[in-house]
Amino acid sequence: MGRALGAAAAGSAVILSGCSGAALGVGSAGIPGSHASAGSSGGKGGIVDGAGGAPGHGTRQVSIAGRPLAGLVVGIDPGHNGGNFTHQAIIDRQIWNGRAWENCNTTGTATDDGYTEAQFNFQVAVDLRADLTAAGARVVMTRASNNGVGPCVNQRAAIMNSAHVNTAIAIHADGGPPDGRGFAILEPIADGTNDAVIGPSALLGDDIRTAMLAGTVMPASNYDGVNGLKARDDLAGLNLTQVPTVLIEVANMRNATDASLLMSAPFQQQVARALTVAIIRFLQ
Ligand SMILES: [Zn+2]
Repeated sequence: MGRALGAAAAGSAVILSGCSGAALGVGSAGIPGSHASAGSSGGKGGIVDGAGGAPGHGTRQVSIAGRPLAGLVVGIDPGHNGGNFTHQAIIDRQIWNGRAWENCNTTGTATDDGYTEAQFNFQVAVDLRADLTAAGARVVMTRASNNGVGPCVNQRAAIMNSAHVNTAIAIHADGGPPDGRGFAILEPIADGTNDAVIGPSALLGDDIRTAMLAGTVMPASNYDGVNGLKARDDLAGLNLTQVPTVLIEVANMRNATDASLLMSAPFQQQVARALTVAIIRFLQ
């Protein structure tokens, strides 16, 4: 089922096309092996999602043209930070993650070429912030650049809670086995603090999974979770949250195919647009 919504405000529409729809993007993304297109220089006015399947929560039509997120607040937590690599003592400080003590933060992983997860996470966050802002949302981020240290993972949860965001997403990329591919969406497990947002977080995860499969070339993980979903009780951001949230491992940085995608701006924008589609669906 293809859908075409949202007239572009200026320039060409940005189009995301899934497996079941025709690829109609204006300007090829140039992604090797891609069967989807994401215009990298087009306008921001339209998002067309080619998701198939039965109508339901995860397949509602979305468009950013009507500013569907006006009045809503969305949190983005780009995992890690560029300065963590040179401030080991700070990030090794122990914090309580809701169930156990753990390090304040970590450096994150990197591709074999040395492209860091912290940089990837921040770039997708910047792209996502632009799309969400165009859709009318106010965006809260846990870090403003890729040059700082931290904040600690418990503090990142506190930022989202105190800002009373309507939903939040943490952006990461994994350091998995070299032959493993794909994205995994990590979801909270009830621990008291997060009890009220377990159900909504699962719905958000479903919407993100649907949008990632329809709007990006990244498959669901073949080594982490089931069908791209996994519940986790060892992450501060999920244990301490009081807002609907999930953490996405967008791909496996240690896999050559995934790594080449992660380093490409068109793919990063594709991920941001898929997450935007999911967040609009979730909040509408
Ligand atoms: Zn990470």
